[in-house]
Amino acid sequence: MTPTAAPHNSNVTGKIPATLIPGDGIGPEITAATTHVLDKLGAPFAWDVQQAGMAGLKAEGAPVPDSTMASIKRTGLALKGPLTTPSGGGFRSVNVTLRQAFDLYANVRPARTLVPGRYEEVDIVLIRENVEGFYAAREYFLPQGGGDGAHGAAEAEGMAVTAGYVTRAECRRIVRHAFEYALAHGRKKVTLVHKANILKLMGKVFLEEGHKVAADYAGRVACDERIVDACAMQLCLDPSQFDVIVTTNLFGDILSDQISGLIGGLGMAPGANIGEKQAIFEAVHGSAPDLAGRGVANPVALMLAAGLMLDHVGEHARANSLRQALDSTLKAGVKTPDLGGTATTEAFAKAVAERL
Ligand code: NAD
Repeated sequence: MTPTAAPHNSNVTGKIPATLIPGDGIGPEITAATTHVLDKLGAPFAWDVQQAGMAGLKAEGAPVPDSTMASIKRTGLALKGPLTTPSGGGFRSVNVTLRQAFDLYANVRPARTLVPGRYEEVDIVLIRENVEGFYAAREYFLPQGGGDGAHGAAEAEGMAVTAGYVTRAECRRIVRHAFEYALAHGRKKVTLVHKANILKLMGKVFLEEGHKVAADYAGRVACDERIVDACAMQLCLDPSQFDVIVTTNLFGDILSDQISGLIGGLGMAPGANIGEKQAIFEAVHGSAPDLAGRGVANPVALMLAAGLMLDHVGEHARANSLRQALDSTLKAGVKTPDLGGTATTEAFAKAVAERL
């Protein structure tokens, strides 16, 4: 799906080896629905099923078992269900660990209207820098008296410090990825989103390198810039003014959830984590503990992620068939409860498979 994607070769059976991580929470339910549809489609993947997150802890005593890492390293390709990350303590996010371990620097999150709601035609691709920023931050706690005294009495109970960073090289790499994506997909504009008015150094480096890269595409792809808070407001007001957005890690995480809200919610938004050698495809959403085990989660986001994975290995015809089947299933009114329907996850998958 991107110019930097590594080629994936079929093995002797004509199948493409790929890692399948069902995940936890609603993960196993939406993964089963997705593989059901991929089987009907004749998708050429030979799955190596591996565990991670809570399921990895249960099965192998580690949130990221060695066998899971080895499998992704070998296949270079994974479809992953969501993974729970404990808040405010516990093990480090498995998603962040995988992105950093395999240098999956570009998180590509396309959002397109399938079920018209408040907005008729949203079609935005958010490209999030995936290995730096506040997700690679050094975090520490300065106990009482450990600060520099500059904050007076407010320091009395100590200070939590989170120090994020960006590098010039990574800013160039992610912005170039966005422009190459725009060229390859016939997109007209890339918007650099930042907070250079407050986070002056991070923002300055991102913008300086971003505009340098943009100059190489002048006349082919337009470039503009927005401050992240104003961008969030403009997305609600008029999403049609955006085409491709490229931004740093934390802003990308937040804005992509917001953008999913413009197209019907988290159940509709897929994502691809792309590196030079490996790529992991997943839904933007998490493990939705409130829905786990109830058989009502929306599998569309993971199915669309599987479509991105098909594109990534050059299976564009199958990817398009999958998207068309999803489109016509939703148009026929077959929807899970998050979209106002009554279909179960399984019934929805069957309805999609029938249309392939
Ligand atoms: P979430 O995305 O799991 O859920 C947020 C809300 O969206 C919930 O109300 C949920 O019911 C709804 N929702 C999400 N996916 C849905 C679907 N497919 N169908 C219908 N409704 C859906 O976010 P959260 O509750 O903040 O996080 C739960 C856990 O997931 C946390 O541990 C978090 O760290 C993790 N997480 C993982 C990933 C990932 O694996 N890539 C991404 C985000 C969050």
